[in-house]
Amino acid sequence: MIPMVNLKAQYTEIKDEVEQGLAQTIENCSFILGPNVQAFEQECAAYLGVKHALGVASGTDALHLALLAEGIGKGDEVITTAFTFIATAEAIKYVGATPVFVDIDPRTFNIAPEAILKAITSRTKAVMPVHLFGQPADMAQIVEICQEHDLKLIEDCCQSFGASVNGKQTGAIGDSAGFSFFPSKNLGAFGDGGLVVTHSDSTAAKLKQLRNHGSNVRYYHDIIGYNSRLDEMQAVILRAKLKRLEQYNEGRRRAAHLYSKLMADLPLTTPFEDGLGVHVYHQYTLLSERRDEIMQALQAKQIGCAVYYPVPLHQQIAFKEECEGMSLPVTESVAANCFSLPICPFLKDEEIHEIVDVIKSVF
Ligand SMILES: *Cc1c(COP(=O)(O)O)cnc(C)c1O
Repeated sequence: MIPMVNLKAQYTEIKDEVEQGLAQTIENCSFILGPNVQAFEQECAAYLGVKHALGVASGTDALHLALLAEGIGKGDEVITTAFTFIATAEAIKYVGATPVFVDIDPRTFNIAPEAILKAITSRTKAVMPVHLFGQPADMAQIVEICQEHDLKLIEDCCQSFGASVNGKQTGAIGDSAGFSFFPSKNLGAFGDGGLVVTHSDSTAAKLKQLRNHGSNVRYYHDIIGYNSRLDEMQAVILRAKLKRLEQYNEGRRRAAHLYSKLMADLPLTTPFEDGLGVHVYHQYTLLSERRDEIMQALQAKQIGCAVYYPVPLHQQIAFKEECEGMSLPVTESVAANCFSLPICPFLKDEEIHEIVDVIKSVF
């Protein structure tokens, strides 16, 4: 059996450190916005090269609060991709804005800059690219578009912790960004968690209020905010993992490159690295018209595999009202042919060989 991601192997490595930290937190009883959250926020800010990093309850909340803090609201349009997890667009809906879905690059699966340009209207207020599967979107072009048209740039970094473009981390490029610590993400907690980052002091001040009931001083509330804080216990775990993140992401890249080398001669499309940034392989995702056959063969051998994402957002029932009749041909063709293989820093070379042998047996 080979799971999509081997969280157990990772835990074995950090067990002592985590258990010690958790015991201390329980001993101190500082459970909400305690010293580990504060330290973790500083460590993230330093690692990512941003001025402010704030722990929140989830990646979804991070994106929601970032949109609020950037002043996006009712009547505004936010251009984004339909080939992503629904939370990207849910966050846009939460603030009363309209997600405008545009097509993707067929090779990287990331939002296509030329499609963004075509979708800009007088109501467009922001662009929200997703660094899908861990590969940075084409940020040089997207930054230029946002500057030229005076649009906010909010990055969905929920799959890209540690990915970079020209030495700049994803999340440090736009006006603000959201990260997720869902357990299976590159930097994962033992439950839900998220992080919102910005270079701006005023945006950070708004975010700080928003995540804590609209309050700067306890029991004084300037706005209606939310209860969206990163848990102290999760911060303990995340600190242990952040220290090792570079090594984990290097392990993912190594696994991905071995897969691609072993499958170079097979009639399927292995992930394309566009060279514009460093891909951290949150997912290893391929294209094949024989996807279903391949997945059946893998499942028969108890090898994990999954389709991210089978139904693009413009075809979801939840977006029926705004997307009825909409067509995004590249997105639809990728969704019909994509599938992902197990990937994590603890995937062994033998396991990769075993998985590729099963795929070879299909052809
Ligand atoms: C995981 C994910 C989210 C949401 O993160 P949660 O922490 O689960 O709320 C948002 N966007 C993308 C692209 C994601 O992969």
